[in-house]
Amino acid sequence: MTNKNLIKGRTGDWEVVIGLEVHAQVISKAKLFSGADTSFGAEPNEHVSLVDAAMPGMLPVINKVAIEQAVRTGLGIKAQINRFSVFDRKNYFYPDLPQGYQISQFSDPIVGKGEIIIDMEDGDSRSVGITRIHLEQDAGKSVHDMDPSSTYVDLNRSGVTLMEIVSEPDLRSAEEAAAYLTKLRAILRYLGTCDGNMEQGSMRCDANVSVRKPGDELGTRCEIKNVNSIRFAAQAIEYEARRQIEVIEEGGTIEQQTRLFDANKGVTRSMRSKEEAHDYRYFPDPDLLPVNLSEEFIEEIRSTLPELPDDKKQRFVDELGLSGYDADVLVAERAIAEYFEEAAEGQDAKTVANWVTSDLFGYLNKEDLEISDSPVAAKQLGALVGLISDGTISGRIARDVFAEMCATGKDPAVVVEEKGLKQVSDTGELESIVDEAIAKGAAQVEQYKSGNEKIIGWFVGQVMQATKGQANPQMVNEILRKKLSE
Ligand code: ADP
Ligand code: MG
Repeated sequence: MTNKNLIKGRTGDWEVVIGLEVHAQVISKAKLFSGADTSFGAEPNEHVSLVDAAMPGMLPVINKVAIEQAVRTGLGIKAQINRFSVFDRKNYFYPDLPQGYQISQFSDPIVGKGEIIIDMEDGDSRSVGITRIHLEQDAGKSVHDMDPSSTYVDLNRSGVTLMEIVSEPDLRSAEEAAAYLTKLRAILRYLGTCDGNMEQGSMRCDANVSVRKPGDELGTRCEIKNVNSIRFAAQAIEYEARRQIEVIEEGGTIEQQTRLFDANKGVTRSMRSKEEAHDYRYFPDPDLLPVNLSEEFIEEIRSTLPELPDDKKQRFVDELGLSGYDADVLVAERAIAEYFEEAAEGQDAKTVANWVTSDLFGYLNKEDLEISDSPVAAKQLGALVGLISDGTISGRIARDVFAEMCATGKDPAVVVEEKGLKQVSDTGELESIVDEAIAKGAAQVEQYKSGNEKIIGWFVGQVMQATKGQANPQMVNEILRKKLSE
C-alpha cells in the first residue's frame, strides 16, 4: 500500500480501511427455495409462491441452479469451493420477512477464500482478498409511497437468491473500493451469475469503514448499508472516513454503528448502534439437508467458465499488442470485448482498438447508446479498418465514412462507392495535380528550395483541395518531394 492513499488530518496522516459486503442477485429463473418467477418489473405480489409467503407447513426445496451459480462465481474469483455447506436460519422480525427468519449460510458457506485483482487508473494492479461467498434469501419490500396512511408489502423479491460476497478489510481508499466494485461487477457479468444492475437493486453494497494511524491496529468500523451505485459507494466512504477522522481528532471515539448514506446531501447518518444490533440466533435449518458437492459437479462447472477479464486483458496485450490501458478499457465489459474481437478479426488490432475506444465510444456516448445498440456492427467496423489498410480510403476520409455508417447502418464499401470517396492513388493522375499545385506556387517553391521544408504542407493542402481530400496522402508526399527537388 502506498502513501498516496493517506488522508491528511490535523494530527497527521490517516489510513482508511474498507471491507465490502456485496449482495448480488443470482441469475436464475426460479427463487432459491421455490419455483416462483424472478423476472424484474412484475406487478406487486405477482411472483409469490406459498413458500415465499411462508404459509404454514410449506417446505423449502433447494434450486440447483442457485448452487451452480455460486460455485461458478467462486471459481471465477479463484476461490476455495466448499464441498460441504449448511443453510442456517437467521432469525429476526420484519414486516417484509414473512418466515420470521432468513435462510442464509453462517458457519459453513459454499465458497471460501478467493481474490479479486483491482486495476487502478494509474496502471497499478493489486489483489483484494475475498473472505467468503454465501447464499441467502432476499426479503420482500415494504412499500411506503402508495398510500399516505398505510404501508404495503410486496413479496416478489421474497426468496430470490442472493450471493453475499464478503471482502477482507484490504481496501485503502474510496477509489480502490470503486475499482473493486467495478471489477467484481465485470466478473459477475462475464460469468452470467448476476446482471450487476445496481440501479435496479440486483447488486447492492454495504461498506465497512474505519480509520487508523499508519501501522496501528484496525480501528472501530462503521457499516454503511445498502449503497446502490459505485459512485455513491465512493462518496459515502470518502465522507465517512473524514467524519471519523474529525471525531477522533476532536478527542472523541468511534462507536460501532450501522449508518445510511443520503445521496442528496452526500452524508452518512446513524441508523442503529452496536447495542441495538440484532442477535440472530442462527441455527441450521431443520428443513434442509447440508449441501454436499461432488468433485465432478465442480469440475463440470469449471469446464464451462468463459475467459475472464484478467486473462482476456493479458491476451490482448501479449498477442494483439494492445497497451494495458486499451486492454483494460476493452475488457471492462464482456459485450465490448466481444465486439472488439469480432471487429479485429483479420484486421490490425491496434487500429481497430483505436476506432472502438475513440470514434465508436464517442458516438455511442453522444447518442447514449449501449454497444449492443450500435448502428455499426463489429464486422462493418472491421471492414472499415480494412479499407484504410488496403489504401482504398485514407484515415481522414474514413471518419466521414464512419459518420455515414452511423447514420445509415450501411457497409463501408457501399458508402465509399455511393459517395465516390475512393482514394486517388493513380500515380499519373496525382502527378498532374501536383504539377498544377507547383505551377501555382512559385513563391512557395522558392521557400522550399531555400530550406523551409514545412512549406510542403501548403502543396499537400492544394492537392487535397483539388481531390476533395481523397488523394492518397503518402503518395502525394512522395511525389511532391521528388518534384520539388528536381
Ligand atoms: P458482520 O457480519 O458483523 O458485518 P464481519 O466480521 O463479517 O462482520 O465483517 C464484515 C465486513 O467488515 C468484512 O467485509 C470485513 O472486511 C469488514 N471489516 C472488518 N473489520 C473492519 C475494520 N476494522 N475496518 C473496516 N472494515 C472492516
Ligand atoms: Mg455486515
